Amino acid sequence: MNITLKNQVTLVTGGSRGIGAATVKLFASTEAKVVFNYLHAARQARELAAACGGRGRVLAVRANLARVADAQRLVKITVRTYGRLDVLVANAGIWNYPPLPIEKMTEQEWDEMMAINLKGVYGVIHHAVPQMIRQGGGRIIVVSSTAGQRGEAFHTHYAASKGGVISLVKGLSTELAPHQILVNCVAPGWIETDMARPVLKNRGMCRKAVSAIPLGRFGRPEEVAMPILFLASSMATYMTGEVVNINGGNVLCG
Ligand code: NAP
Repeated sequence: MNITLKNQVTLVTGGSRGIGAATVKLFASTEAKVVFNYLHAARQARELAAACGGRGRVLAVRANLARVADAQRLVKITVRTYGRLDVLVANAGIWNYPPLPIEKMTEQEWDEMMAINLKGVYGVIHHAVPQMIRQGGGRIIVVSSTAGQRGEAFHTHYAASKGGVISLVKGLSTELAPHQILVNCVAPGWIETDMARPVLKNRGMCRKAVSAIPLGRFGRPEEVAMPILFLASSMATYMTGEVVNINGGNVLCG
């Protein structure tokens, strides 16, 4: 049995680069209709949409998900363009580099992290759920992080935002189950994307990070996209409120 999302309408946030871009490509390859947002990476977004079949199949929309109004517009455009919304992947996020001690962390830095990584997830889910309820079901997959499970020193606002989305997912899985909306998380460890680039480029930091990963390497964006596709597919009809670990064995928790 092949995994397919044929005729399903999917919305992927932060689809212009990294894990989101790999998810857009993979979803499009299974014949899903895909809407994704970008914020700054307009060229990459345009090229990705064109490579995946263009407007009839894949649509790129500019949106700043720190603003709930943009999340609302993104959901509206999805439904207006392709008629429904079956799968939401809330992936867009930021990390901080260099590391930031709590006593140096400004209110603005805290607020920006929460606005994108936590409120940004609330915004798209808040506006997607009424459409999914009308349709009689749906799938929501949120991209958290190992940082949300075990914390991350000097990235504590990031870790707090990622722990927040895990709790959000658990609560929503129960709340939305009567509507047949399945809500799950993936929690990646180190993945080779622009976000992890500062660590990948620093030989000492990279060696230290890899030494803590039993599989002995960073993951690739496609290796996160595949479990996301699984959670979106008809192969995962009895899973909700789950956190799927994708970390090369780095953090072992249920
Ligand atoms: P990335 O390569 O830096 O890509 C981030 C994506 O999010 C981009 O498409 C970016 O859009 C979008 N984005 C950022 N701020 C946004 C905003 N305010 N509004 C809308 N879109 C915004 O990151 P990644 O590594 O693929 O990360 C994707 C997710 O995985 C994040 O939630 C991250 O926390 C999580 N994660 C990553 C790792 C890792 O090691 N890479 C590990 C654990 C979890 P533009 O480029 O167009 O601005």
